[in-house]
Amino acid sequence: MGSVQIQCTRCKNVFRDRAARLQDGYSRQCPSCEVVLFFTEDSQHPFVKRAMRNARKARKEQREAVRRAAPEPRLGRSRAFAGRTQSAERED
Ligand SMILES: [Zn+2]
Repeated sequence: MGSVQIQCTRCKNVFRDRAARLQDGYSRQCPSCEVVLFFTEDSQHPFVKRAMRNARKARKEQREAVRRAAPEPRLGRSRAFAGRTQSAERED
């Protein structure tokens, strides 16, 4: 969950990595040819650009999924203050 496809800029091998990791400044080795790929926001390489874009999208979707799954807890303070009236009634 939350992984994106990355295409190696050298050998064109496609592999996956976590979207959470794929942020500006991230680097990782291709599992196939072991070239180190650098992921930066200003990269000119279409493979890197696509991976960055997909990672951003995946992170956004994940955030929204989390929000849907766990809505903010309601501040429903329904602690009915049962002020017990002391029955200090005298029976005359
Ligand atoms: Zn490669």
